[in-house]
Amino acid sequence: MELKICHMYPDVLNLYGDRGDIICLSRRLQWRGIGVQVTRLPIGRQAALSGFDLVFIGGGQDFEQQVLLEDLHRGKDREIRAAVEDGLPFLAICGGYQMLGSYYETFDGQRCDFIGALDLYTVGSKKRMIGNYKFQCEPEAGGSLVVGFENHSGKTRLGGSVRPLGKVLSGYGNNGEDGTEGAHYKNVFGTYSHGPLLPKNPAFCDHLLQTALERKYGRAELEPLDDAAELFAHDEMAKRI
Ligand code: GLN
Repeated sequence: MELKICHMYPDVLNLYGDRGDIICLSRRLQWRGIGVQVTRLPIGRQAALSGFDLVFIGGGQDFEQQVLLEDLHRGKDREIRAAVEDGLPFLAICGGYQMLGSYYETFDGQRCDFIGALDLYTVGSKKRMIGNYKFQCEPEAGGSLVVGFENHSGKTRLGGSVRPLGKVLSGYGNNGEDGTEGAHYKNVFGTYSHGPLLPKNPAFCDHLLQTALERKYGRAELEPLDDAAELFAHDEMAKRI
């Protein structure tokens, strides 16, 4: 067994160690004897997403989101929309999560027209939503408790065709108002959680890997790993937040 992972925009979307999510996905596969190939897809490089089993998009600030717009609308937008509808698993963080929606309007009124792969939009607010936070994933998104770090000015509103990824237990999440965090649509998981997210949330990481392996191979049983260190980090943060 092997997963082919696409790391989209590693050159511009990589805040707060988001690259650690790629390392975590890779290691948890390798420790189980499952092969992994990671392909970087920076600005200027195109590839058919149908050749991948999982796509990762990290976070970036308003500036980086504007920098990638031209490249995004040169074909990656169509590729992403088709792949999402086809059930390809995605993990998208913060700026990358916003990028999958229809648009992001910054607090000073600059509009980034994104791609509408997910039925959601984001509008910047004066107050930044910063800090460690935690949320409970919805059962259909694996149901695990996730601890993370958020830093965004954008308030995201979900349309009717996407479900929230989870419920905020502490912190802001999508907008600090409706108690939702992230989005879940088909096999796309969008979240505000940097940190990186996956090393201290092994259950959530395994849910993603399971989703990708089942889609590719029909069924997949993930061997349990010794997660003592990961769970210590997770539980310690869950207690503090
Ligand atoms: N630019 C976005 C915002 O501030 C995303 C920031 C991020 O990825 N941390 O809302």
